Amino acid sequence: MRSNQRVTCPICGGNCFLLDVVDFNKSCEEARGKFLELSGIPIYYQFCDNCNFCFAPEIALWPFDDFEQKIYNNHYIDVDPDYIEVRPRGNALRLISMFKGHAQSIKHLDYGGGEGVLSKTLRDAGWNSDSYDPFIEKGNDIRDLGCFDLITAYEVFEHVPDVHQLMSNLRLLLAPNGIILFSTLVSDANIKKNSRLTWWYASPRNGHISLFSKKSLVHLASRYGFNSGSFSTGFHVYFTSIPNWASHIIRLNGQS
Ligand SMILES: [Zn+2]
Repeated sequence: MRSNQRVTCPICGGNCFLLDVVDFNKSCEEARGKFLELSGIPIYYQFCDNCNFCFAPEIALWPFDDFEQKIYNNHYIDVDPDYIEVRPRGNALRLISMFKGHAQSIKHLDYGGGEGVLSKTLRDAGWNSDSYDPFIEKGNDIRDLGCFDLITAYEVFEHVPDVHQLMSNLRLLLAPNGIILFSTLVSDANIKKNSRLTWWYASPRNGHISLFSKKSLVHLASRYGFNSGSFSTGFHVYFTSIPNWASHIIRLNGQS
């Protein structure tokens, strides 16, 4: 596709326009003062005038192998040093504390869980937890995984080339009355019309190709029949109804 081709928003169907272009090697580590050499490959981001979803449609069309070769390769750790151990262990500890006393009754899936460190940490603490990563277990049929009361998706949404594939997978995997807890940093106040795309999180080298505004997250939820809420600018929940074991989390944050 041509970078200036007119596209419609995959979330709300609104009109999009070219917001900016960045070098492919723009990485999240720039926030810590570490810069990669420029790749010379321009990556254009489109922006939805209605819901403010911002995305890189050309990368979204890459075949699977390109993601492995160009993004999730041996150097990925250089641009996301916490993804193997630090982040999954920290997130597991937060879940343990969040659902203290309910671990036995929750069937949990960590969607996009990489090597499964988060799930293993939970299992060691007595949880019934599984991990699934579409980039690692690409041959597996997700229908074989079963259904889960709690699905977590940490740093997944911003990586997906196709938000509808993600949502239909989550819908399929979620048990009735289950909830989805996920992290992705919302772009509100960081991505604006008539401003350059300088936000550290807008980094193609990290695979951050789908950047959500709060409004676009709400819109996406409603398209799939979910209610939604946010605990912070980076942590969110999708649910249809609030199960007893999650009522203290959701109500405490004013989501009910
Ligand atoms: Zn939109």
